[in-house]
Amino acid sequence: MTSQLPTDLQQLDAQDTLRHKRDEFSVPEDIVYLDGNSLGCLPKAVPARLAQVAQQEWGEHLIRSWTRNAEAAQDWMGLPDRVAAKLARLIGANANEVAVGDSTSVNTFKALAAAMSMAGERRVLLTDTENFPTDLYMAQGLNKLLGDTWELRSCLNTEIMEHLTPDVGALLFTEVDYRTGRKLDMKGLTARARELGILTVWDLAHSAGAFPVDLNGCGADFAVGCGYKYLNGGPGAPAFLFVAERHHDAAPVFLSGWMGHADPFEMARAYAPAAGARRYVVGTPQVLSLSALDEALNVFSDVDMHALRRKSLSLTDTFIRLMEPLTGQYPLTLVTPLNHEERGSQVSYRHPDAQQVMKKLIERGIVGDFRTPDILRFGFTPLYHRHADVERAVLGVRAVLEGQP
Ligand SMILES: *Cc1c(COP(=O)(O)O)cnc(C)c1O
Repeated sequence: MTSQLPTDLQQLDAQDTLRHKRDEFSVPEDIVYLDGNSLGCLPKAVPARLAQVAQQEWGEHLIRSWTRNAEAAQDWMGLPDRVAAKLARLIGANANEVAVGDSTSVNTFKALAAAMSMAGERRVLLTDTENFPTDLYMAQGLNKLLGDTWELRSCLNTEIMEHLTPDVGALLFTEVDYRTGRKLDMKGLTARARELGILTVWDLAHSAGAFPVDLNGCGADFAVGCGYKYLNGGPGAPAFLFVAERHHDAAPVFLSGWMGHADPFEMARAYAPAAGARRYVVGTPQVLSLSALDEALNVFSDVDMHALRRKSLSLTDTFIRLMEPLTGQYPLTLVTPLNHEERGSQVSYRHPDAQQVMKKLIERGIVGDFRTPDILRFGFTPLYHRHADVERAVLGVRAVLEGQP
C-alpha cells in the first residue's frame, strides 16, 4: 500500500513528541487496534520480566523471594507498594494513598464500604443511571449486606450537580463514561460534594493512564481504577484503590486481610492496620500479574502526562474530523462531546446496526468494540497510536458503511 496520508496528518505525526513510545509496545501492524480502553497493548519489556520472575524468582528462589533483596527493591512483599508509587504519580496521589491489588470491582466494594460507613445518618448513595454494571452491582450487594438500609439513587451523569443534595451521603461516578466517552468535571463536582459533606468515590477505569488525573488537586476522597486498560498491565491486571490521607485514621478497613496488617508475620490474633493505604492490600499479592503491571508502568516514567493529553485530543479531534462527512451520509451520530474538557480518550458513535457494523470492522482489521444497545466505540491510546492509524480506521469505517467487500 502506498502512503497517501494527507500532509497535515503526516506533519502531526512528524511533530509528535511521543512518537518514540510506540517502539516500546508490541503493536500488531496488520490491524488498527482501537481497544486499548478495554485491554491495552503489550509493552515489549513485559515478557522478559515475566520470564525472569517465573524462572529466577519463583523457579530458583521460591519462598525466599518474599523478602529477598528488599534493599534493592526486589522483594515480593514490597511489590504492591512499589507499583502503588509508580501509579500515584499518574493520578495525582501520594504513594501512601494508593493500594494495588484485586480487581476494580473488589476495590469498589472496599471504597464504598468505607465511604458508606463514614456517611453517618445520610443513607443515600448517588450513582450514575448508566454506570458500568459492576459499579452498580457492587453497590447493590453491599446494600444487601447492610440490610437494604441505603437508598441507591441514580441520575444521568449530565445532571449530577442538581442531584447533589444534603441528604446524599456518598457518590459513586465514573469520570469517563465507558459508552459515550464523556468526561465529567471531577474537580467541580468534588468541590461541590465536599461543601455538602458528600463523600466521593471516583471510578477512573477510563482515566488512569489516558490523561493527567489530579485526585488530591480535586480533593477526592476515594477512587478506584483498572490496571489493564490505559495502564497496559495485561489481562486481569491488578486494580488500584485511592484513599485520601486525611481519611486514613477514620476510614475503616472491612476486608481486613493479613497482608494489610501492620506486621503480617507477627501472626497476631487481632487486626492492626498497616500504615497508609497498604492496609487495603487484602491477601497475598498477585506477584505474576503485579510484576507485569510494574514493568508496564515503567513506560510512563518519562512521559509528560500533559503532552499525552494533547496528543490524545489531537488523535480524537482528527478522528472526529475525518468521520464528519460519513455522519452526513449514514445514520451515524457522534455521542462523544466536541468540547475538549468533556472528552476522555475514546470516540463513540450511535448506529442503528452498530453490532453488525463493528463485526465487519473487526473483520477488516479495525478493532474497536460494540457496546449495547447501539454504540460503536473507538479507543485511542496516545502512547502507541499515530494519526496515520486514525486515517486507516476512518477508511475502514467508510468501506464498511459503503458495503465494500
Ligand atoms: C472496565 C471497568 C471496570 C472493570 O472492573 P473489573 O473488576 O476489572 O472487571 C469497572 N468499572 C468501569 C467503569 C469500567 O469501565
